[in-house]
Amino acid sequence: MFEAFDEAARRAIFMARLAAITDQSKTIELVHLLAGIHKEAPVLFRGVDWAKSKIRLARLTPENLHKASQAQGDIPLGAKTKRAFAAAPAIAKKLQSSRVSNAHLLAAALSADARMKKQLQKAGLAQENLKKSAESRGAESGRASRSGIGYDLHRLSEKRKLMIGGVEVPFEKGSVGHSDGDVLCHAVCDALLGAAGMGDIGTHFPDSDQKWRGVSSLVFLRQIRQYLQRGNWKIRHIDAVVVLERPKLGPHFPAMREAIAKSLGIPADRINLKAKTHEGIGEIGRGEAIAAHAIATLEG
Ligand code: MG
Repeated sequence: MFEAFDEAARRAIFMARLAAITDQSKTIELVHLLAGIHKEAPVLFRGVDWAKSKIRLARLTPENLHKASQAQGDIPLGAKTKRAFAAAPAIAKKLQSSRVSNAHLLAAALSADARMKKQLQKAGLAQENLKKSAESRGAESGRASRSGIGYDLHRLSEKRKLMIGGVEVPFEKGSVGHSDGDVLCHAVCDALLGAAGMGDIGTHFPDSDQKWRGVSSLVFLRQIRQYLQRGNWKIRHIDAVVVLERPKLGPHFPAMREAIAKSLGIPADRINLKAKTHEGIGEIGRGEAIAAHAIATLEG
């Protein structure tokens, strides 16, 4: 049914399901589809005064998205949503597009509910903008490529293992943390979540949750891999730098790249790792702490 829908429109439909779950609805209604389209292509709603529209969209915060994405099972489409999906390809075709974009999907949703259309128009929805967006292919998504940054720091202490990039590095100290304290994995997690606009590691894997106690940080990467898949994101590249005084990490980089790549389901050549000392300065320089910075680029 959705073959003709472009990636961004499919993500909006995916988000519509999460909006329905957030609203505890048994069916996916037009208002949920609207929430999904709004999440993926907010530019289509430029100028809309939502209070005036009297339409309440589900709040798709990272917390709500996380909660909703745990829910299992299909949610049936409401009758109007079904009509909108059926109408969208014809609307795209009329505008000489072979693919259904979010602009087409929104036009289809409005065509399925005259009252909602009136409400949105009254609240400032500009049909002109909609038409322009529908005509400029793909412009509405703004999600071709995005980057995210991640940073983490952990204290080092005796009697702890030194886990970096999913690999145990032989050393007299290890990082202190609720999980295995893997700074590199944590920085990569935050970079990936940041690029996907999904908040941060603390939101998804809070250290108040006993579930994550002592767990390998590769588990977090595997979970994030699933989030990215659901959002139709692909990992293009990850670059990271680990800052520590000792020991030398170079010999361990191949194993770390493999471990991270395997957890994320990507080839290892999309991951670059570097190490820096702190020139003996400060906590890191004295060997009391270890830090990592990462940047991730996704394409959607
Ligand atoms: Mg951490």
